[in-house]
Amino acid sequence: MARTLILYVEDNPDNRMLIRRLLMAAGFDLLEAENATQMWALLEQQRPDVILMDLHLPGVDGFTLTRQLTQDARYADIPVVALTADVLRDTPQRCREAGCVGYITKPIDVDTFLDDLQRYLNRPKEQSGS
Ligand code: MN
Repeated sequence: MARTLILYVEDNPDNRMLIRRLLMAAGFDLLEAENATQMWALLEQQRPDVILMDLHLPGVDGFTLTRQLTQDARYADIPVVALTADVLRDTPQRCREAGCVGYITKPIDVDTFLDDLQRYLNRPKEQSGS
């Protein structure tokens, strides 16, 4: 059975290192992008099963990137899970409106992160709405 390929879009190297350790220890394959340009370049080459999206990125932010992915027929069926330190009241709604299937708050809880992620892996994107 093919391994699950995850694309993590994140500009903070410390966050990337932590997620990298967790995902690789759990047997996932991981692609990393620091910004929009790197993300689009990687997507030309490989097809991830899920995209983890930092919302605060230099240049094009994660909300905008998610919207662009969702509206692009080539990538619309790849679920996007937001990773955010925002605890603002409207953040969940903004994530949904951008097209995210869900979000995980930072700093991540290393004890629950993999379970949280797993919930989004086997769920068709169409069921995430409302
Ligand atoms: Mn960031």
